[in-house]
Amino acid sequence: MSIILFIFGACFGSFFNVCIYRIPRKKSIVTPPSACPKCTHRIMWYDNIPIISYLLLKAKCRFCGKKISVIYPMVELLTAIVFLVAYLKFGLSIKLAIYLILFSLFIIIGFIDADTETIPDVLSIPGIIIGLGTSFFTIGIKSSILGMLVGAGVIGFFIGFWLLVFKKEGMGMGDLMLMAMIGSFTGWVSALYTIFYGSVIGLVFAAILGKRSLQDKLYFGPALVIASFLIIIFGKHILLQ
Ligand SMILES: [Zn+2]
Repeated sequence: MSIILFIFGACFGSFFNVCIYRIPRKKSIVTPPSACPKCTHRIMWYDNIPIISYLLLKAKCRFCGKKISVIYPMVELLTAIVFLVAYLKFGLSIKLAIYLILFSLFIIIGFIDADTETIPDVLSIPGIIIGLGTSFFTIGIKSSILGMLVGAGVIGFFIGFWLLVFKKEGMGMGDLMLMAMIGSFTGWVSALYTIFYGSVIGLVFAAILGKRSLQDKLYFGPALVIASFLIIIFGKHILLQ
């Protein structure tokens, strides 16, 4: 069963690559079929097998020979691992289905934010609705609504604070909607932990990427989704022992 979830994840990852590329560019995620972004030649089904095709093609397009980004197999492998870990945590259950939806949104949102510095509402708003709607099976509707409000409220406070002190946006409305979504799935306590751990992870990113000042772009969206994933899988005390 673990193997099936891993393969299932890799296939979804392949679809998420399409979403990550097309959603910020306002293109349909259904049509046209996948094509090489360099030569626009349609990608054959046998060249579109998750992870394996990238290795067989030696990272080059069959038609134009240009390099294929390593991001594609990375997203596929990451999704496969995330699906496997979620299965090991929740078993075959309704919770597994709910958290696979959330983790799928995490992967798509995380990569879109890292790439384009935006978090599309077309992902976070349906995410909030799904979080509220499925809360009956997880944390209950009251906790879900409270989580949504606390997640959005704290980020709203930070946005206001940043505007006052640094006279510019540190976080955006995208981050606010993302935290509302995370809160609606996990409740207010986990939402606060997510913001705290997310800030720590964001600062680590900033240090690694050599940000000159606090006013540079922070990879806050990706940091938040990583933090929330770790909290859901390993519990709130993963970093604070
Ligand atoms: Zn090509």
